[in-house]
This record gives sequence, C-alpha cells and structure tokens, in this order.
Amino acid sequence: TSGNSDSNAYTVGVDVTYPPFEFQEDGEMKGIDIDLIHAIAEDQGFEVKIEAMDFSGIIPAMQAGELDIGMGGMSITEERKETVDFSDPYFESGLSLVIASDNTEINSIEDLEGKIIAVKNGTTGAKFAADNQGDYGYEIIQVKDSTSMFQEVANGNADALLEDYPVIMYAIATSDLELKVAGDKLNGDNYGISVLKGKNDDLLQKINDGLANLRENGKYDEIIDKYLGE
Ligand code: GLN
Repeated sequence: TSGNSDSNAYTVGVDVTYPPFEFQEDGEMKGIDIDLIHAIAEDQGFEVKIEAMDFSGIIPAMQAGELDIGMGGMSITEERKETVDFSDPYFESGLSLVIASDNTEINSIEDLEGKIIAVKNGTTGAKFAADNQGDYGYEIIQVKDSTSMFQEVANGNADALLEDYPVIMYAIATSDLELKVAGDKLNGDNYGISVLKGKNDDLLQKINDGLANLRENGKYDEIIDKYLGE
C-alpha cells in the first residue's frame, strides 16, 4: 500500500478523465496510462491500484503519502522536478490553443486581447496562460478538469482553452465537441511517470526498466496502437 516501500503494491494517481490516456468506459478505467502502468507492473513483478482524481491533486497526494506513482499525461517540467522524480519520457506532447469550431475571429494566441481563456488547474496550460497573460491581455478562467474546460468554450463562457494537442486531437476525432485547434502548437514537452523526489529510486528504476522492456518487446507500440491506431 501507499507509503510502504516494502510492499509490492503501489497506488497510482491519474487524472479523473483524460482520454486517450485515462477514461472510464463500462465502469472501468482504460487508456494509455492505465495499460502502460499495468504492463510495466507485470513486467517488473509488482501490483498497482489506480486512483482517479483532479489532476491538480496528484502531486499533493504524493506529498501526503497517499500515492506512490503519479501519471495523468503529466508533462516533465523543471518546476515539478523540485518535488518529483520523473521516469524516462514516454509520450511527446505540448500545448495547443483551442476555440469553438465556428469561431473565425481567433487564429492564434495574438488574437486573445480582451478575450477569456479557460485552463485546467495545476496544468502546464494553466502555467502557460498565467506566464503569458501580460503579453496577450486575456482573462483566465480556471476549472478542475478537461470536461469542464471544453464546456466553457462550447457554451460560450470562454473564447478559447489550452489543452495538450494529442488530447484535443483525440477529443475532436472521437466526440461531437464543436471545437477546433487555432494556429500552431505553442510548445513541446514529454509525459513522464512521477514518484516522490529522492525517496523512490528503486521504484523509479523498475518503472524505467519496465518501460524499456515494453519498448523493446513491442508492447509499448501495441498499447499506443490500441488507442491511437485509427
Ligand atoms: N500535460 C499537462 C500537464 O502536465 C496536462 C495534464 C492533464 O491535464 N492531465 O500539466
């Protein structure tokens, strides 16, 4: 159980909903993160228990000793490296600006002066919005999950949102959300699997070994294909 380094079972925190990385279907958690951590666990001989929560709660829950591993399409950032250690990168991502599909006014972040942008608490998108607010002059609305963020734009409360491009491309392709991407990607980053900093070297080693084995034996590609194949 969580916080007990002798135990063979680790608690993994993931975002409450972040398809294709994690989502509920038929009462079950599915997605790339979920399959990946199960496959790593199987490869390395440990057990995992998945707990879904607001993304902003994952690192605090690790710090409180309630989680051993943090996932959730979590980008490797210098800021987070002050509190967690990351595995080797496992997926390339980065931010896109997203608007309503019938919006013809906004073509890039330069067009956001006086507009309202919705972001998810605790994310790289929220940080990007805050860091660049002075340059572009928008107002920020903070919400707790991606579903609410998409809603804010769909129902006109916000003009735009920031989301990781693999996530928004998947959402647009698999749902009837009336959203589209505006302009070029804003930046690039990589997802990593996190553990509490400086205290979990053995676990981190197992995660990296497992990840390397899955890349080697084709299981990593199988998992990616299962969710992103079409
Ligand atoms: N990749 C982004 C981050 O790490 C968003 C993650 C998420 O919303 N689950 O902040």
